[in-house]
Amino acid sequence: MNALGVDADGLISEEMEAVERVIRSGWWILGEEVNRFEAEWAGYCGVSNAVGVASGMDALIVGLMALGVGPGDEVITTPMTAFATVLAIIRVGASPVLADIDKGNAMLTVESVDRCLSATTKAVILVHLYGQAGPVEELAALCRSQGIHLIEDCAQAHGAMASGSRLGTFGAFAAWSFYPTKNLGAIGDAGAISTVSPDLADRCRVLRNYGQSVRYVHTEYGLNSRLDEVHAAILRCRLRRLDSWNEARQRVAQRYRAGIAHPDVQMLPLPRDPERHVYHLLVVTSSRRDELQRHLAAAGVESLSHYPIPVHLQPPSSSVRRDPVGLAVSEAHARQCLSLPCHPSLTNEQVDFAVSVINSFSIEPR
Ligand SMILES: *Cc1c(COP(=O)(O)O)cnc(C)c1O
Repeated sequence: MNALGVDADGLISEEMEAVERVIRSGWWILGEEVNRFEAEWAGYCGVSNAVGVASGMDALIVGLMALGVGPGDEVITTPMTAFATVLAIIRVGASPVLADIDKGNAMLTVESVDRCLSATTKAVILVHLYGQAGPVEELAALCRSQGIHLIEDCAQAHGAMASGSRLGTFGAFAAWSFYPTKNLGAIGDAGAISTVSPDLADRCRVLRNYGQSVRYVHTEYGLNSRLDEVHAAILRCRLRRLDSWNEARQRVAQRYRAGIAHPDVQMLPLPRDPERHVYHLLVVTSSRRDELQRHLAAAGVESLSHYPIPVHLQPPSSSVRRDPVGLAVSEAHARQCLSLPCHPSLTNEQVDFAVSVINSFSIEPR
């Protein structure tokens, strides 16, 4: 099994050619492959600009810096996310504020964000968790009415759509990660910012390259967060397969949904439209999560939790401002969530096996 889909050999030979092309070109950082990938990625998303950077976390950092978010500003986001989302806010000197999540889909809600607004709120980062579109239309409206920025953390949601548009087109910018396990992944770290604003994109291009506007002229303090040519070349090969990989993930999810029948194992609710979910992760919840995970492991089925410790319970985050009603839903989800095997090259037999193992999980006498 690998992450390269059914035609792994075809893809690998294409990629070897692409890598050789890059090596022979003698130009390895910020060149033609990056330019082309940026144009192709922007085109795929349906925005005018994409800017390649070194990682998903850097995409958030560079985008936040480009928007002028920094010390004295609050940014509202979710505690149920990769730590990188919140770390990016900290790294630009702003203060994260953690809002509780929806009990069903485990993402921010308009109500929880609304509860966390303050006079210093500058932005909201909506994480499209597990590959599902969050309430992006509603949050865009709320942010517009408050005069604050909506930012989409799209690191898990390549290709998902809402109201007929790709995710990553609703806010001031979107941050993408191409970490190898994401729906679109490179062969190392890589990321991108997408935005409808050419000005913001220009600012990101300067910031990712030491704050350099033209060669050896530094108009501000940036960082070194460039996308390598070899990753861009690989991503161009894989982007052509993204839609078919996402369809394969949707089939896997559908098969789990049809097969799982156990009183102590719940699927997350279906999205209101199938195009809203590209199943970066297939997550179930169970009040006996740890026991279920051991039961799966004993049968050779690997599972993980995303995420077992919400951000506010991580050691450095004890004083982070949080939802005035608390974060009980996030804490309950962290205790109950379990991610089942879900990738494009899983066979029906493998899914059926995992389903049969789940369905044979003992039923606790009540
Ligand atoms: C993976 C991920 C990131 C960080 O991306 P990196 O490329 O690993 O820096 C940020 N946010 C979310 C939701 C992620 O899943």
